[in-house]
Amino acid sequence: DRDPPVVRVRGLRKSYPGTENAVLDGIDWDIPRGRVIGLLGRNGAGKTTLMRCLLGLLPVDEGEIEIFGEPMDEPRGERLHRIGFVPQTFDLFKWMRVGSYLNFTAAFYRHWNRTLENRLVDNWGLDRRAKIGKLSEGQRQKLAIIRAMAPEPDLLVLDEPVASLDPQTRAAFMNELIDVVRHYGKTVILSTHITADLERAEADIALLDGGRLVLEMPLAELRERIRKVELTRA
Ligand code: ATP
Repeated sequence: DRDPPVVRVRGLRKSYPGTENAVLDGIDWDIPRGRVIGLLGRNGAGKTTLMRCLLGLLPVDEGEIEIFGEPMDEPRGERLHRIGFVPQTFDLFKWMRVGSYLNFTAAFYRHWNRTLENRLVDNWGLDRRAKIGKLSEGQRQKLAIIRAMAPEPDLLVLDEPVASLDPQTRAAFMNELIDVVRHYGKTVILSTHITADLERAEADIALLDGGRLVLEMPLAELRERIRKVELTRA
């Protein structure tokens, strides 16, 4: 497989003005195509900061970022169609109705999968006539996920997308995500506190701690290693 990594990061450093320690303190990261990556870390570890740097939404202090084999500082136009982002909270366009918001957003994209949009809206019980401002947090999160998935981006970045959803919906959402990855060979970065959400995705995990990625391995392998330790101690 000689594809360039979807994401390639070298020596990434980022601090916020007025804070003593760097939030990201030397991140090196290669993400191959077609994987689901679970980005784990305690509250405040810097998961959101890392994602926003990768997306070009935050300037970095130092380091190199390449997405799809191209430096991040190149013009963004083309890349925008290929990256989907679900932020931690979605509270835009409160005055719009769900249906008109989706139509309005679809018009911005070169490609928009209506079939996928309709399936998710129906499966997740979203009312197209409802005003976005009247939706529950979980429903708004579903809308943000549909909005990010319908353009079928090559890279999908999700910042704790399922935190506000009930366990059943979380599982349903993860299944949709796994389908997208399997059928289209997409790459997904998903930050979460809950490794159970990653189980069925055969995810790789990346653990962010102290400003660095301190552990990268398939979740199944980590589970296996822990199991062996427990066996030894039993
Ligand atoms: P959570 O799981 O709570 O979302 P996180 O891992 O996503 O946390 P970040 O939101 O990236 O962490 O925050 C990392 C650190 O940077 C935290 O200590 C936070 O307080 C700090 N921070 C984030 N944004 C800013 C900002 N704009 N100015 C100053 N400090 C900030």
